[in-house]
Amino acid sequence: MRAHGSCHCGNVRIEVPAAPAWVADCNCSLCRRLAWRVAYYPPEQVRISGETRAYAWGDRLIGIHHCPTCGCGTHWASLGEDFGRMGVNARLLDGFDESAIEVRKFDNAG
Ligand SMILES: [Zn+2]
Repeated sequence: MRAHGSCHCGNVRIEVPAAPAWVADCNCSLCRRLAWRVAYYPPEQVRISGETRAYAWGDRLIGIHHCPTCGCGTHWASLGEDFGRMGVNARLLDGFDESAIEVRKFDNAG
């Protein structure tokens, strides 16, 4: 069953193939600031509508997108190489409850 979500102001809408079975809680220098819970999907299965802005983190070839109106982080996607997956901020999905699913700690600090 597809799952839906949006940013706070509703400008950006997200549709994914299913609610995540687990999410990542990453401690890298960016994620620890943003407090995202990331769910991974193949890019072709994700629909994002509405305008976003991307922050390109220098040495990582990914764009980290947010809504320019309300500031919610929405998703990240490769800027070049095809990773075969992208990350969606599961906190934006309707009914997301991190206490009800597995939260995997990713140790990317350093
Ligand atoms: Zn917004």
